[in-house]
Amino acid sequence: MRVVITGGGGFLGSHLCDALLRRGDRVVCLDDFSTGEPGNVGHLRGHPRFQLIRADVTTGFDVAGPVDAVAHLASPASPPDYHRLSLETLAVGSKGTENALRLAVAHRARFVLASTSEVYGDPAAHPQREEYWGNVNPIGPRSVYDEAKRFAEALTVAYRRRMRADVGIVRIFNTYGPRMRPNDGRVVSTFIRQALDGQPLTLYGDGSQTRSFCYVDDLIRGIVAMIDADLLGPFNLGNPREQTVRELAELVREATGSDSGLEFLPLPVDDPTRRRPVIERAREQLGWSPRVPIDEGLRHTVAWFTSGSVARRAATEPNLGMSVGR
Ligand code: NAD
Ligand code: UDP
Repeated sequence: MRVVITGGGGFLGSHLCDALLRRGDRVVCLDDFSTGEPGNVGHLRGHPRFQLIRADVTTGFDVAGPVDAVAHLASPASPPDYHRLSLETLAVGSKGTENALRLAVAHRARFVLASTSEVYGDPAAHPQREEYWGNVNPIGPRSVYDEAKRFAEALTVAYRRRMRADVGIVRIFNTYGPRMRPNDGRVVSTFIRQALDGQPLTLYGDGSQTRSFCYVDDLIRGIVAMIDADLLGPFNLGNPREQTVRELAELVREATGSDSGLEFLPLPVDDPTRRRPVIERAREQLGWSPRVPIDEGLRHTVAWFTSGSVARRAATEPNLGMSVGR
């Protein structure tokens, strides 16, 4: 297969590039590096089945040659990123998704949308099944991301209804692992960086809000299964083990051997109080379920954070944590 991965230079996209190349596919990585890192795919430079196109998916782009699948991952994903890049986030979810869908339709290729658990907003139903329609504040600070992804889902199913496009949707729950940007402001990367630096771990609110954290290798297996399937979904892809942010802080302290203290800061506006996927649909129809327990996943992630290149990156990048959205 020849697969175009929009956002292929990001955290998840670069792991998807690796996974597809490992099994013999050809990969076109399309990225504008607005939130991604060329270093994420630096090891693939010169690979005979890998091609990098630096382009903004919202302004139109060209991919020469055959295309069998388009995996559309391009979008800022960390809350500080999408607050900072509010209009760009709306554009990539709308225009960017339409451009990626057009590419897929032109080639009669399979299209997979990387949607998000954020379509459920601050969920009134718990745990979250795919049938739940969500609870999103359309004018709140998170809406640029949440509504962009909801629009992207609507566009994707409209292309299926009108154009009979072969499309699928995965709703990704919080995922962590190597190649997260140390200063991206997401909770796992922030806690690990703070713990390794001996700084207090910043808990927003009282830390009682919950998330369900999935290790990146598990998540990528699910996306690959979706590329290979001919199903629409949507499928929740996430690890159903739910924990409070405070419990996560303890797990990170254990994984790093750190005795960092805790610092309590105000909770961002509209921060979802709880989040846990029901994954029976993906289990039954895709044969997918996560395998990596959080202590093991955190060990791998910490090992990556302690490698030299990450330390250098953390030192030179601005810290995006605690930015906006309060
Ligand atoms: P990321 O920021 O590391 O990767 C996104 C990539 O998209 C970056 O490389 C960025 O440069 C690129 N990009 C953004 N706008 C673009 C544009 N207009 N044109 C071309 N490239 C563009 O984030 P990630 O965590 O790897 O997330 C990847 C996808 O998965 C996103 O669509 C995100 O919404 C979705 N997702 C991720 C998570 C998670 O926990 N990581 C959870 C839910 C959904
Ligand atoms: N969070 C926190 N401290 C941080 C960063 C995040 O307590 O330094 C909290 C945040 O308020 C949220 C949870 O951790 O409740 C997950 O945040 P993240 O930004 O990783 O993902 P999302 O909110 O998109 O699920």
